[in-house]
Amino acid sequence: MLPLFQAYPRLKAKLPYVSLAELPTPVHKLHKLEKSLNAEQLYIKRDDLSGLIYGGNKIRKLEFLLGDVLNQKSKRVLTFGFAGSNHALATAIYAHSLGIRTTSMLMPQMNAQYVRRNLLMSHYYEADIHQHQTQLTLLINTAYQLLHYTLKEGRIPYIIAPGGSSPLGAIAYVNAAFELKEQILQGHIPEPDFIYLPLGTMGTAVGLVLGLKAVGLKTKVIAVLVVEAQFANEKKMVKLFNHTNSLLHSLDSTFPILKMTENDVLIRQEFFGEEYARFTKLGMKAITQMDNQENIQLDGTYTGKAFAALIHDINQEDIKDQVILFWNTYNSRSLPFAGEDFHQLPQSFHHYFVDKVQPLDQEELLVTLKEVNFSD
Ligand SMILES: *Cc1c(COP(=O)(O)O)cnc(C)c1O
Repeated sequence: MLPLFQAYPRLKAKLPYVSLAELPTPVHKLHKLEKSLNAEQLYIKRDDLSGLIYGGNKIRKLEFLLGDVLNQKSKRVLTFGFAGSNHALATAIYAHSLGIRTTSMLMPQMNAQYVRRNLLMSHYYEADIHQHQTQLTLLINTAYQLLHYTLKEGRIPYIIAPGGSSPLGAIAYVNAAFELKEQILQGHIPEPDFIYLPLGTMGTAVGLVLGLKAVGLKTKVIAVLVVEAQFANEKKMVKLFNHTNSLLHSLDSTFPILKMTENDVLIRQEFFGEEYARFTKLGMKAITQMDNQENIQLDGTYTGKAFAALIHDINQEDIKDQVILFWNTYNSRSLPFAGEDFHQLPQSFHHYFVDKVQPLDQEELLVTLKEVNFSD
């Protein structure tokens, strides 16, 4: 049973939930990185292993969101993201496993290998994907799709917020903090001084901050911005924190009302780079270091930037002796490659497969290097 439900049985009775994830996710030391970074206590939380088909942070949120979809007997969800969205893919995969269809309303982004893979995989899991050039066309087509499917399927699709970061979705990371507390009590990790993680639609960071407070941990969350600051900032975090807290308190009045303060979380903007999903040199360096030393694969859009912040801060010496936990939010399961052909995708996505990926996308660099060697 989820540790949140053990602590608050009334929440178990009232919250929608469907078990999809492999929990608890392991937490362990990064011995080799500890040595090379000259840090004393560096740990990783393996949310990359959270799902058997597709891990990462989205599956935890989907346990609550798709639980709600099942309760409401909806047959289709409609969600949002950028073209390479891990959230849209996770939704397609796990909704499919429950017999629920997915419609994804997507926006353009920087090209990368993972964008191609995620699009092909969404298609493989029978998601209906659409790309829009502007917010306005996205809005208009969303209204159209809702109407279309309501008439066609006799039910209005269930709307899932971008990144799954509604108050209901964020509760998954409140639970994750309870899970961490158990792992501390079991001696797998001392109480962390800091948790490093990427900050996107904020559900992960906000849920954790709320959960850490609720279980009485003094850990500070270092939230590394990976989207434009207009989408993720302190004001928005406080709002999501309060909404999530109210929801929990309204379902179980013994769940305390808490307040997010500046001791709880710090937003770091310096590792964002130029734009969402544009990889940075520091991020790529951090990814290489994690891969070479620990054989764990991070990504250029989210976790690479967060890990770059962690490395930077450790090199500044003042936190070398602290307990630092890197919360890995990126899937590390290899996806079944079904040999899908991109021509089966809507035309608006074809350019991702025809155009080059961004220069810092390493996989592409490696392939290019190999090709050079061969032709030589
Ligand atoms: C979505 C995502 C995040 C951001 O989490 P939010 O809850 O949206 O802030 C971080 N890492 C990865 C790999 C993601 O896919």
